[in-house]
Amino acid sequence: MNSCIFCKIASGEIPSNKVYEDEKVLAFRDIKPVAPLHILVVPKKHYVSIMDIPAEDMDITAHICSVIQKIAIDEGIAADGFRVVINCGKNGGQEVDHLHYHVLAGRNLTWPPG
Ligand code: 5GP
Ligand code: ZN
Repeated sequence: MNSCIFCKIASGEIPSNKVYEDEKVLAFRDIKPVAPLHILVVPKKHYVSIMDIPAEDMDITAHICSVIQKIAIDEGIAADGFRVVINCGKNGGQEVDHLHYHVLAGRNLTWPPG
């Protein structure tokens, strides 16, 4: 049985505040936003992290990039700018072991991150 929370959100088993969906990708608002706009973009297929994507599936990363372009335009954040983050593994701060891209915007984001 698959107990992955983002697989359940991607399949619709658990509801989410959806902002974009196609056959390969779902984007939804983070339940605990750390910026005025905080959207998660996930592949519907389960990969633990970028380290888990086989070469033959790597086109999903380009597809997610095009989805993020669309979200940035639709959400009106392209002009002021935004940040895209992939946390990978323990030291990367990854808590949910299903690949996800954070899209953060709506305030001046500091660098370097903590
Ligand atoms: P990570 O630390 O793994 O990169 O980020 C996981 C993110 O998923 C966190 O920002 C957390 O708030 C978000 N998250 C965890 N569970 C849920 C959930 O059930 N629904 C939504 N919308 N976001 C979640
Ligand atoms: Zn999953």
